[in-house]
Amino acid sequence: MDTHIVSSIDSSEFTHLTRTLSKSTVIGLDAEWKPVRSQRSTFPTVTLLQLACQIGDDSAGWDESVVFLLDLSSLPLPSIWELIKDVLVSPDILKLGFKFKQDLIYLSSTFRAQGGNPGFDQVEPYMDITNIYKFLQHKQGKKISKDTKSLSAICEEILGLHLSKELQCSDWSHRPLTEEQIRYAAKDAHCLLGIFKIFQAKVIKEGPLCNHVNEQHQSNVSLGLKGILEMPDCENKLVGRKFCNALDIVQATASSEECERIARGVEVIRKTKPMDESLWKIVRKYGEKLFLRVSDRNPKASRRKGKRLSSVVVCEEKQLENYGDWQGPPPWDISLGGDGCPKFLCDVMVEGLAKHLRCVGVDAAVPHSRKPEPRELIDQAYKEKRVLLTRDAKLLRHQYLIKNQIYRVNNLLKNEQLLEVIEAFQLKISEDQLMSRCTKCNGRFIQKPLTVEEAIEAAKGFQKIPNCLFDKNLEFWQCMDCNQLYWEGTQYHNAVQKFIDVCQLKE
Ligand SMILES: [Zn+2]
Repeated sequence: MDTHIVSSIDSSEFTHLTRTLSKSTVIGLDAEWKPVRSQRSTFPTVTLLQLACQIGDDSAGWDESVVFLLDLSSLPLPSIWELIKDVLVSPDILKLGFKFKQDLIYLSSTFRAQGGNPGFDQVEPYMDITNIYKFLQHKQGKKISKDTKSLSAICEEILGLHLSKELQCSDWSHRPLTEEQIRYAAKDAHCLLGIFKIFQAKVIKEGPLCNHVNEQHQSNVSLGLKGILEMPDCENKLVGRKFCNALDIVQATASSEECERIARGVEVIRKTKPMDESLWKIVRKYGEKLFLRVSDRNPKASRRKGKRLSSVVVCEEKQLENYGDWQGPPPWDISLGGDGCPKFLCDVMVEGLAKHLRCVGVDAAVPHSRKPEPRELIDQAYKEKRVLLTRDAKLLRHQYLIKNQIYRVNNLLKNEQLLEVIEAFQLKISEDQLMSRCTKCNGRFIQKPLTVEEAIEAAKGFQKIPNCLFDKNLEFWQCMDCNQLYWEGTQYHNAVQKFIDVCQLKE
């Protein structure tokens, strides 16, 4: 095992670490701390963070791996905060862990205590070894036991490797670490790569991931492998490289930030190597997300109501704000279809915008459910090949799942939002497009207008048409999806005029 201890940012080991991270596609994570017994008001301080980095893909050098032991008791935490954060959320790196949430809570608290930065609150894409183990057991036709096995038991069974747990509770704050401690710490993270490798080989051997969707769809419900249920659509060809290129472009715009970081002496892994397609498919299908809630941030014993909690909330909002500053170029891949014009999915927060877009003839859907989870939204956008419009900055973190097809709307008012989207996506709106879609359901209208008689017939028991309209020789239009009738009355003309103004159309 190629193991390196990193204890200073001016060292060659640190350079080696940053270079390796930029080439890694899978990383096994583990952390060690000195157990705290007396004080229950604080989390234990993490003194060692292990990163087992897998370099290369299955075609070349798959076996190349390096383990880095980050000595958090001597590294300046504020200087490496950004680096670790990048690794934890990089879409190009699959993170593996064994019940890593606990580690993440302690790690987050350790950095907050010493670095002053907001703690790490998520890891994505992530896969837990427990779930991988259950999957492998299931594939072998074994009965899945309810109690979770220890990592050493899993290691023994899958890899035939003995992992001694004697050192788990040794003093991890003592320096220098003993030879045994170093070996133990490295092995603990490294074995995660080995277990994943077996899982990966199994999944690849079973043929293209898309062919077994339904079978796995059912069989894995009981396994609790998150994300399977949410990703039933595998028919679309996913080309990892393509959106990674797009990510590069976006990241390149962060140059001033980057300069700042380099000035601080820390090279950040902005340029990462994209996953190859088979790994990407695994991530898309089995990837999970670790997420810390505010309540995870304080030890249970000291969780007080009021001030303390609210200060954490403020900190979280601040973080989001920073994230929201990001505004990439409008994403729209012509190959996604939409008759020369993108189709949209408007998040709940911009539902009014959806109606406005329909009024100007643009295909704009709304979420299937009233309170959609981010994954549901992304899945719908992905399946229906829509660009997701949102005001929720958090959603941008998932953009890699739908080829960056998310746009964050800046404006708050509907009219301004409409104009913003028209300009950002350079939509060409002509007057004959106005009122050409059902504002209720986004449906299309029938080909020819209905006569008054036909309209009355169509509206029976469904919609009331005011009597005063009958002698006006108006055209009636019906939605093909929800059957709603529309006519060119005063309201219609007012609306057309309104959108001519909003869209600044020349009459
Ligand atoms: Zn309709």
